[in-house]
Amino acid sequence: MSRTGKTLMDMYAAMRERFAHQRWWPGETQLEICVGAILTQNTNWTNVEKAIANLKAAGRLSLPALAKIGHDELAGLIRPAGYFNVKAKRLKNFITHVWRQVGDDLPAFLDRSAGELREELLGINGVGRETADSIVLYAAGKLSFVVDAYTARIMLRHGLLCPEDDYEAIKEFFESNLADDLDLWNDYHAQLVAVGKNYCKPRPACDGCPLEKFPHDIRAGLMD
Ligand code: SF4
Repeated sequence: MSRTGKTLMDMYAAMRERFAHQRWWPGETQLEICVGAILTQNTNWTNVEKAIANLKAAGRLSLPALAKIGHDELAGLIRPAGYFNVKAKRLKNFITHVWRQVGDDLPAFLDRSAGELREELLGINGVGRETADSIVLYAAGKLSFVVDAYTARIMLRHGLLCPEDDYEAIKEFFESNLADDLDLWNDYHAQLVAVGKNYCKPRPACDGCPLEKFPHDIRAGLMD
């Protein structure tokens, strides 16, 4: 294991000791995970849960139902997730894409290599890299590290990344330094989200953070 890999694993151990295994993704089915990954952009998970609860209550949380639903009804149901008109279009794009390929058989759609599935997802209008990687990792159960703003901020402040590193560079950094371990990749991202939400905010709260003992410079990342 590289020195950087060891540092990453030491950081993971510290986060996991504090937060315990996060058991992500907080969705019950592959479809629910895909829907959640699309709706969670620019909002918190509580709002996504409300939107998903609305879809369930209306009997719309299935591929056939989502394939048939009209824009206005869908936008109304997912309203709690914010940006509901944009997200209704994105969700519909995803559902239509899957429906045309495999009908109701989402597992068949997800059953391909991580790289192939990621490319397929990125070809759908409105599916960005974080969403695609979340679907590959958490819905399909395949190795694709998920990067978000928390990941970039924490790693930048700990001197493990450069400000110019983009999404793909950060993803490659983790994927090349961590063992190919699905459970590790799954929970590593979840632990970084927990640190980001609770401590590593734009104004960091390093006192008591599980990563406090690792070298860090809070001036890095203050541009957020
Ligand atoms: S809050 Fe401080 S110690 Fe915690 S991850 Fe951010 S920079 Fe590191």
